[in-house]
Amino acid sequence: MMDSSKTARLEQMVVALRKTSHRITPQRLAVLEILAESHAHPSVEKIYQQLRDRFPTMSIATVYKTVSILKEIKQVLELGFPDGSNRYDGNKPFPHPHVICTKCRTIFDPELDTLVDLTLEVARQTGFSITAHRLDFFGLCGNCQEFHHDG
Ligand code: ZN
Ligand code: MN
Repeated sequence: MMDSSKTARLEQMVVALRKTSHRITPQRLAVLEILAESHAHPSVEKIYQQLRDRFPTMSIATVYKTVSILKEIKQVLELGFPDGSNRYDGNKPFPHPHVICTKCRTIFDPELDTLVDLTLEVARQTGFSITAHRLDFFGLCGNCQEFHHDG
């Protein structure tokens, strides 16, 4: 079941697609649903795996295409990695900090109230008009730390 904020997010995505004259197929809608709901920052492959049973004829290209359109219309945030294992946040499609496990690749959204001040400070120091930022923290998640101790 989706809670109301997830439903709202899905509606925003659908409206944005319609506004930009993109077709909304059942497969596309299913990709949107996963992106609106998931807090796990899924990869294209993960989304594809989750939908394969429901849409046996769907290709991974459909997922790639949908994600790339959403990125273009700023309805999904792409977390790019040098190895190409990009991940996507559809429920918070604006720049925000992440904490990333280097072992299992779990990604969380930490709540950082100080980030607004930090952006202002960077603008003040450099004279830049700041339009976006990327702030990633890397380490081992709780689970991976336990595995490490168990040896
Ligand atoms: Zn981990
Ligand atoms: Mn996020």
